[in-house]
Amino acid sequence: MSAIRDSHTDSLSGDSLFGDSPSGDRFVSRRAAAVDASGIRRVFDLAAKLKDPINFSIGLPDFDVPEIARQSAIAAISRGENRYTQTQGIAPLRQRLRADLSAEFGQDVGEVLITSGVSGGLMLAMMAVLDPGDEVIFLDPYFVAYKHVLTLVSGVSRPVDSYPDFRFHADRVDAAVTSRTKILILNSPANPTGVVLNQADIDAAVAVAKKHDLLILSDEIYEPFLFDSNQGRLISPMPKYEKTVVIRGFSKSHAMTGWRIGYAFGYESVIAAMTKLQQYTFVCAPSPFQHAALAAMDVDMSEHVRAYRVKRDLVLDALCGTFEIVRPEGAFYVFPKCPNGITATDFCTRAIEQSVLTIPGNVFSSRDTHFRISYATSNDKLQRGCEILCELAKSMDV
Ligand code: PMP
Repeated sequence: MSAIRDSHTDSLSGDSLFGDSPSGDRFVSRRAAAVDASGIRRVFDLAAKLKDPINFSIGLPDFDVPEIARQSAIAAISRGENRYTQTQGIAPLRQRLRADLSAEFGQDVGEVLITSGVSGGLMLAMMAVLDPGDEVIFLDPYFVAYKHVLTLVSGVSRPVDSYPDFRFHADRVDAAVTSRTKILILNSPANPTGVVLNQADIDAAVAVAKKHDLLILSDEIYEPFLFDSNQGRLISPMPKYEKTVVIRGFSKSHAMTGWRIGYAFGYESVIAAMTKLQQYTFVCAPSPFQHAALAAMDVDMSEHVRAYRVKRDLVLDALCGTFEIVRPEGAFYVFPKCPNGITATDFCTRAIEQSVLTIPGNVFSSRDTHFRISYATSNDKLQRGCEILCELAKSMDV
């Protein structure tokens, strides 16, 4: 990649990190220009033009925030909890999370930092840990924001292919490590595949991280959505490896995607650096919703998880005869392979013509062979949508 150097772009962070083409507008930085609008947004835009589509593209639950949490948010606003909170979040929420998490992991997890969603936590973690040019490994397919957040903080993405089973292949990850690698991101249950890493995967990841002295950033946002009985509890690298930062949140677990409440805990010096950076960026997570999140922690959400398990099974039953699928054990996504070498972009475009919205794999991957279905929708729509997808696959059979 050739770096064009001039007085506007020659910066400390190294302009070559952002590609060699300036945006064409003096007031749009290379940093901003280098971030491509998400492919998911493009599908959303198409969806807006369709009348009553079957929408399998949305990565958020189809239930609403629990009533107790809604009332708690209203009450917090009414009694004036509308100002800045402490940078790290309100004490009762931090204490409750620390107690619950420490019980879950069987050890004190230390200070918990409340963030503006998991996205806020990811951004802070990357800013806290990376110097320009430092590299971050994550499995391909990946949650699309990783790559873009890394661009924003002048880090370098090193996606490692995890096809065809989407598990942790230690040899491939090991081969991708360089002297600049600092972070290994794990995401389990995973977006877009729904794969849940088992003990062997986690042990292998911890071994690679130890060998190369990497920080593990464990994105566990889908932690409550675990469906198979042998996976009653998420296996996290946290208790096995001190240099782990875990990020979780309420967006998916309690359908609060718009309330922006996440939290981070783990390796002490990184959490402290993240807290310092939050002071001058996000300042704090939204005050009333921190109170509401605390109230939400007393709500039993297991009924929703059971309902999602039924949806997962329904989708697998409907699609398995036609598509090759790695059985998802968590989150609310499946990632089927398009049949007969059809590209996912072609397949998803044809599906949109039939009012079924899915996301082509190349949004999450260097490959364009699979597509993501979010099954967080009504069973009726799932049934109809899957039938259309199967018919389409058969009609494209060459
Ligand atoms: N990580 C993953 C794997 C996700 O899928 C998402 C949301 N789609 C996020 C993080 C961001 O979550 P939040 O809305 O809490 O910022």
